[in-house]
Amino acid sequence: MAASSFDTMDGKIWMDGEFVDWADAKVHVLTHALHYASSVFEGQRAYNGKIFKLKDHTERLFNSADILGMKIPFTQTQINDACNELLVINGFTDAYCRPVVWRGSEMMGVSAQSNTIHAAVAVWAWPSYFSPEARLKGLRLDISKWRRPAPDTIPTQAKAAGLYMICTLSKHAAEAKGYDDALMFDYRGLVAEATGANIFFVKNGELHTPTPDCFLNGITRRTVMDLATKRGIKVIERAIQPEEMADFEQAFLTGTAAEVTPLSEIGPYNFEVGEITQTLMQDYDADVRRQH
Ligand code: PMP
Repeated sequence: MAASSFDTMDGKIWMDGEFVDWADAKVHVLTHALHYASSVFEGQRAYNGKIFKLKDHTERLFNSADILGMKIPFTQTQINDACNELLVINGFTDAYCRPVVWRGSEMMGVSAQSNTIHAAVAVWAWPSYFSPEARLKGLRLDISKWRRPAPDTIPTQAKAAGLYMICTLSKHAAEAKGYDDALMFDYRGLVAEATGANIFFVKNGELHTPTPDCFLNGITRRTVMDLATKRGIKVIERAIQPEEMADFEQAFLTGTAAEVTPLSEIGPYNFEVGEITQTLMQDYDADVRRQH
């Protein structure tokens, strides 16, 4: 990326119904979202000029907002149109697209009953979430000391800013130790997900993945499960104990940004970048680039 900071790039950003210059897409420091994490967002990718599963992402955005009690003052169609038009206006065919919804400034306390709800969408070039070398060899994951919280602790099915505080802490700690990312266990001590992606394992030709009962059931995760099923690969969704990782042969992450990324290490456990992982990487690449 040429720009040194996200606030100094060129182009247009869609903000509260209008396309504004990149430099003008600003909020005040006294914005509820900044202090109290009253914000939800999406992460989408465009391939060949088309945002993959845009409708699913927009539905999740509205669902996340609804969970946080925020009524988005736009329709899903308006948000979809904003995403699609921005790609054209900014001249992208392949890009990352970030819708965000947040509470404004009318009240600055825990209660925010009368705060207006704002929405914005930005797009930018983002070729690969992890380095190409790491993707080839498999990423190395630390095991985080932070756990995915219980669904009665925080609304875990919302893609909400507040859920990411421990993800940043986990990823920073992992990077400080030379790892690419971190695996997080859940509140029960079961294998959950990485800091911004879901996880799959391979054993005896079958896929195993944790049941998403306290973390996002990712759109990529569901896509990969369908692709595996189409290949005749059995997919088993279940509770996975950390010790089981000793017997898994392959492991990979899935996410809009991460796509399908193989893992070589998780803490003391080692994995090979095997055939099933490579097949699903290729199937996913083909699926996202297929014109629907
Ligand atoms: N878990 C977390 C914490 C994430 O941030 C993401 C990325 N949105 C995912 C899982 C994967 O979700 P998706 O495949 O819908 O991008």
